Amino acid sequence: MTWFKREKKPIEVPEEKRVVTEGLWIKCLGCKEPLWKKDLEGNLQVCLKCSYHYKISAYDRINLLMDPGWSEHDASLHSVDPLEFKASKPYKDSLASLPKKVGVLEAVVNVQGRMDGFPIVLSAMEYNFIGGSMGSVVGEKITRAIERAIETHCALVVVSCSGGARMQEGALSLMQMAKISSALAHLDQKKLPYISVLTDPTTGGVTASFAMLGDLNIAEPGALIGFAGPRVIEQTIRQKLPDGFQRSEFLLDHGMIDAIVHRKDMKAFITKSLKFFMN
Ligand SMILES: [Zn+2]
Repeated sequence: MTWFKREKKPIEVPEEKRVVTEGLWIKCLGCKEPLWKKDLEGNLQVCLKCSYHYKISAYDRINLLMDPGWSEHDASLHSVDPLEFKASKPYKDSLASLPKKVGVLEAVVNVQGRMDGFPIVLSAMEYNFIGGSMGSVVGEKITRAIERAIETHCALVVVSCSGGARMQEGALSLMQMAKISSALAHLDQKKLPYISVLTDPTTGGVTASFAMLGDLNIAEPGALIGFAGPRVIEQTIRQKLPDGFQRSEFLLDHGMIDAIVHRKDMKAFITKSLKFFMN
């Protein structure tokens, strides 16, 4: 009886003739169409069919915006665990394992250099490090970037990508909102421009402080931007929220941001704005 049992040996495919197809394609989060990963990489991680903007790392962002030759600052700053916080896993463990996995010591990277020739101080947030959350070190690094812009008489650009304040550091993370905001007030007194770039997602205490304090607040298309989540708001105001609520396009329509700029045009847009501000 060999109804289901294979009698002959299965055909062996030699190693060099095997084609690896796994992981080459993804289903687009925007249009649900199949996307070839190489196409996505070649298009700055933006869907060619629907323009869905995927998240990019802090260093990819820096290379996209800055001219070659930038230098990194404050790279050695790292968080401690002042509250000995334990949730699903201890905060200490995340702090120990993430730098190797993500390639950064904290959720923001500070650099200085030029953008289309303009001297710039830039901070780019890294979402893969605890959701780009703002703890004491993120607050300190962004404050130092602002102070560096003042000292060297440069414009400041901050690219936000964050779930908000870091709950693992409790009130200490909330204090960063005031600290960064007051440093930005100094920058303003020196009449130096600050351009805030909001990417998907920019939420919580980051939106409630420096992300919305730019001389220009520019967002990428379709980015989630808000303070509290939609479910919390619906429960509080007891109303159904409109479609597209908390997306860049909705915010632009309601005067909350100044422009929506495609990733490929971002550098040109920022430098054009800086020419206006600086000259
Ligand atoms: Zn798409």
